[in-house]
Amino acid sequence: MPGTATETTDLSADAAKDAAAPARGKAGEGKGKSASSNSSATSSAAARLAKLGLRRPVDLVLHLPMRYEDETTLAPIADAIRRAGLGQPAQVEGEVISNEVTFRPRRQLVVKIADASGELTLRFLNFYGSQTKQMAEGVRLRVRGEIRGGFFGAEMVHPTVRPVVEGEALPDRLTPVYPATAGISQAYLRKAIGGALSRTPMPETLPRPVLQGPLARLQLRPLADCLRLLHAPPPEESEAALADRTHPAWQRIKFDELLAQQISLRRAHAARREKTAPTMPRREAGLLTRFLAALPFRLTGAQERVVAEIAADMTRPHPMHRLLQGDVGSGKTIVAALAACQAIDAGYQAALMAPTEILAEQHFRKLSAWLEPLGVPVVWLAGSLKAREKREAAARVESGEAQLVIGTHALIQDTVRFAKLGLSVVDEQHRFGVAQRLALRGKAGATDVPAPDTVPHQLMMSATPIPRTLAMTYYADLDVSVIDELPPGRTPIVTRLVNDERRDEVIARIHHAAAEGRQVYWVCPLIEESEALQLQTAVETYETLVAALPDLRVGLVHGRLPPAEKASVMDDFSANRMQVLVATTVIEVGVDVPNASLMVIEHAERFGLAQLHQLRGRVGRGSAESVCLLMYQAPLSPTARERLATMRETTDGFEIARRDLEIRGPGEFLGARQSGEAMLRFADLQTDAWLVEYAQEAAELMLAQFPEAVEAHLSRWLGGREHYLKA
Ligand code: ADP
Ligand code: MG
Repeated sequence: MPGTATETTDLSADAAKDAAAPARGKAGEGKGKSASSNSSATSSAAARLAKLGLRRPVDLVLHLPMRYEDETTLAPIADAIRRAGLGQPAQVEGEVISNEVTFRPRRQLVVKIADASGELTLRFLNFYGSQTKQMAEGVRLRVRGEIRGGFFGAEMVHPTVRPVVEGEALPDRLTPVYPATAGISQAYLRKAIGGALSRTPMPETLPRPVLQGPLARLQLRPLADCLRLLHAPPPEESEAALADRTHPAWQRIKFDELLAQQISLRRAHAARREKTAPTMPRREAGLLTRFLAALPFRLTGAQERVVAEIAADMTRPHPMHRLLQGDVGSGKTIVAALAACQAIDAGYQAALMAPTEILAEQHFRKLSAWLEPLGVPVVWLAGSLKAREKREAAARVESGEAQLVIGTHALIQDTVRFAKLGLSVVDEQHRFGVAQRLALRGKAGATDVPAPDTVPHQLMMSATPIPRTLAMTYYADLDVSVIDELPPGRTPIVTRLVNDERRDEVIARIHHAAAEGRQVYWVCPLIEESEALQLQTAVETYETLVAALPDLRVGLVHGRLPPAEKASVMDDFSANRMQVLVATTVIEVGVDVPNASLMVIEHAERFGLAQLHQLRGRVGRGSAESVCLLMYQAPLSPTARERLATMRETTDGFEIARRDLEIRGPGEFLGARQSGEAMLRFADLQTDAWLVEYAQEAAELMLAQFPEAVEAHLSRWLGGREHYLKA
């Protein structure tokens, strides 16, 4: 079929050529550079499109406009001038009556055009010689832009301009404006996308029984019609519905996208079921039992429940893929330790990976203190180890001597090979990227594992609670356990907002708390623009506090500190040899010093809600009443005010997450790293949550009965991106 492309072959020379062919000489765009369509122009065109992720014809077809420009009507110049200042761009046509380059106040091109009703000045501060010619006297121009009242009368600065082609009608559709990046003009994209649209038929992928069955109520329109409409809507379509994406055509697009996501999540789930994992029966009188007996406290009911869920997963011959959620301080570490015991009891190794060295080290100390007395060799592996130490640690991992391995990203380096990895635990999983989580899973590569498809069980832990609609879409391939109860004896944290100007009172309060034998965190402001500046502020705060509190021991910990020093500071603080710890956000996750009961967060207005909640979670871990002082600098922006008010009103992580979602929206909420999100460009999980249930139902039906439709749909929407779901 010459001339028609299939959806998914590489972007053919055709499509790239469309883009490389001269765009209709718009003065402001295209820059006249694309005049040749020889092979080098074609391949650079394809490369430019690839920068936007547009590799196949179908990618172009699914690259949808962000907004539109209405070029369907012409106004007489006088009318357009009369309506100037309303913020609406106008389109007029006129003949060039003068054209000159002036030099006051700087070099610029000034062109005047006129029609029967009046005159208009066009001003160009940056221009090419070719533009001067294009707008020579006597040429008829069609121009579009915003009219302003300039010093010399009405003018347009940098309008979009093109010569009028005799007999050419005005466009009868709205002109799309596409997401683009540097080096790709709108004219270029329109051409490429228009070409792809006409050559790619986009047949229906939803089988009729699905459309007429579970989806009947949605009354979905044919996809191909929707795409044509969205790329070039007739001017009578509702602009508001197009803009806020509630138009039925948008609904169809979003539905198809969500369907692709649901199908692939289910497939990832099924694929995992096909894999085998080592079975790890719970042994009576094994390590697990001895460990439980040695614990200084009793598990909470919630801990008992999640431990049982995890233990049951690990007795099965398929890999566990479970997320353990529990608010900060709910006691997830012990649950991880118990799972590790079960793996070790069964003769396998367990690995625990944490996102920061401080946290990993704390885990190492705690778990080796618990387990080494029971005869379990625990190995520490982090980037800061000397090369020789690292080699030794790696050798103990590879020989299988190390039964529990704890560390940072260093665990997933190529040089680390496990003899018999049966369980991998990722703490604070939201801090890791997809690739890193995959890498730890890939470490099974074990010598004694029966089949090549065998993978370790995986437990992910997070204190960031995920509201239900998000969990449904992002984590369909994940089983979730929740610890919804804090260990007994905790007193709730009192949170206060304090104006920055009352710093002296805050320092006095620290002194008072320390005198009562309590310990204090002082968190330095987040300075996003500059790590160096952040460090400098931390050092200054430290010096101020040392001077202001001469009778106390004050320490400083930040990300640039050599690991040995970091460890010794944390050590002193844990052992209460140091009363005040000045810290950057390195202490954000996981750090556990129960005697610390006062937390000061400076410039709290700069932090996000999740981060504030994590930071605050460092106190309130013992029986003493804890206080968190959020110091802020006035004036507060409305969202900062809302965040701080939320922090004062509640300590419930779920409630905070819910409000965070409200304030920020789900994309930012989960961070770009979460797996399922990589697949959603159009659907919005807040406004389109109601579509998800339909997508789930359709996904199930298609997987069960229409395997070919499933393939076609996935390849259209996902291309090569499906592997992201496996993390
Ligand atoms: P997180 O869930 O934030 O990772 P941790 O595992 O660090 O919480 O536990 C917080 C603190 O609570 C630790 O000091 C831990 O030893 C303690 N803890 C955990 N479970 C219990 C329990 N059942 N009873 C008493 N204290 C507990
Ligand atoms: Mg923790």
